[in-house]
Amino acid sequence: MLIDNFKVDSPNVHYESDAIAATYSYDHTDLTQGPDGNWIVRPTATQYEFRTSTRVPKLGVMLVGWGGNNGSTVTAGCLANKHGITWMTKEGLKKPNYWGSVTQASTCRIGNFRGEEAYTPFSSLLPMVHPNDIVWGGWDISSLNLAEAMERAQVLDFELQRQLVPYMKDMTPLPGIYDADFIAANQDTRADNVIKGSRQQQLEQLRQDIRDFQQRTQVDKVVILWTANTERYSEVAEGLNDTAENFMAAIERNESEIAPSSIYAAAAILEGVPFVNGSPQNTFVPGLIELAVQKGVLIGGDDFKSGQTKMKSVLVDFLVGAGIKPTSIVSYNHLGNNDGMNLSAPQTFRSKEISKSNVVDDMVASNPLLYAPGEHPDHCVVIKYIPYVADSKRAMDEYSSEIFLGGRQTIVMHNTCEDSLLAAPIILDLVILSELLGRIQVRAEGQEQLHAMHPVAVLLSYLTKAPLVPEGTPVINALSKQRAMLENVARACIGLPPDNNMMLEFKA
Ligand code: NAD
Repeated sequence: MLIDNFKVDSPNVHYESDAIAATYSYDHTDLTQGPDGNWIVRPTATQYEFRTSTRVPKLGVMLVGWGGNNGSTVTAGCLANKHGITWMTKEGLKKPNYWGSVTQASTCRIGNFRGEEAYTPFSSLLPMVHPNDIVWGGWDISSLNLAEAMERAQVLDFELQRQLVPYMKDMTPLPGIYDADFIAANQDTRADNVIKGSRQQQLEQLRQDIRDFQQRTQVDKVVILWTANTERYSEVAEGLNDTAENFMAAIERNESEIAPSSIYAAAAILEGVPFVNGSPQNTFVPGLIELAVQKGVLIGGDDFKSGQTKMKSVLVDFLVGAGIKPTSIVSYNHLGNNDGMNLSAPQTFRSKEISKSNVVDDMVASNPLLYAPGEHPDHCVVIKYIPYVADSKRAMDEYSSEIFLGGRQTIVMHNTCEDSLLAAPIILDLVILSELLGRIQVRAEGQEQLHAMHPVAVLLSYLTKAPLVPEGTPVINALSKQRAMLENVARACIGLPPDNNMMLEFKA
């Protein structure tokens, strides 16, 4: 049963004219070790206050790489939904939807009514921007308009494309920053729409672009998201990009190790606009993170968690949680879109390899009964560019595990999917949640005032392969834990306890 409209009735929750205020008791545990080496586990409760503004703004989203497969697909998808465009295929009439988006197409358990489980759309937990209302814009180093970019991407059915052309043909990406040193050489022919000048001049141009977009579209808020080509890693060095000051000075000196993605992120931060990185490179060098923290601007990343890694963060969590020991994980991919072509260069592939490689670490570390200190499954990731399959990516995985009494279990998986149709709803979630997080204020017991959460948006982890976290925060990759974190924090904002699945009401 679906309940899409509800109010929480509790002395701890107040619906004000423009906000929801909730007091929340956070139950957790404190661990201490006595002199005898024995551990004491103490249940503890800390009081938190949340205040969520219910003023949903008109949101503008600027994509870096707007004319790419993801950029054109997400824009097309929202327009198809907004205008209710239907299209015929050999299987019959298709209608647009937002499937694959956790905010738009998933539900959360809200309770039980006369023995029947009741769910609410995720988007009904807190007031959120609807994707139909997003105003799209952004940059691309390729000058094709969005209708041409959609055709180049070869993702959507022809009949759908045909009807979308009138809405997309006048959408033209702003010139982007092109630095051949950071992406594969095979991208060179695409780069006909570039910002000239030094890094400082490029930064200023981007800042101006953001202000112009805001002015022209009259949006209340902007979020910027990188869905451009994967770059190689940039070098992190003392005096170059290790502090905010050094990073800004390096841009001014036009240092060649400052990557385009870091310049976009700096422009966003300096304009007070959240920036999310959907690719695997180390855009967020330490100096840039420091800049975001200084300015209190949300940053999030890295690398959309769409297909193979999402499965991995489910399957390995299940295996290790079941007391089974994965010992070898081998992942092959082939894809034939422009992302695949760019990843065929060793330096850009390396960024993807790093991003994909740490994904099981937290699950392995969670079970020292299975793994000795420092022990880790063999883990290998291969990506090949096969033009023929275009955006329809193939992912083949072999998981070998040790089971009871020396037995072996091997699971093999084959996943075929249009890559951009998985990534586009994730882009929507990332921008919608980034905007929402900007409206939530929190105060822990003992703190004087309500304030924004930490600018490094760990709550976006569910959507990213290599979650960016503040120093000292554990990195959680297990998908169910990431989903629970996101849902439970949203529930806390309306004074609801986490869904603990105990169902005691049916047991005593
Ligand atoms: P794409 O190559 O089709 O699109 C990237 C676009 O970025 C291109 O149009 C290109 O011209 C543009 N571009 C490159 N450098 C730029 C710059 N500096 N400034 C502005 N524009 C620039 O790729 P895609 O399939 O849309 O994927 C985009 C990114 O998302 C890739 O890095 C990919 O690795 C990452 N990603 C995709 C998925 C997925 O499922 N599709 C999953 C995880 C990560």
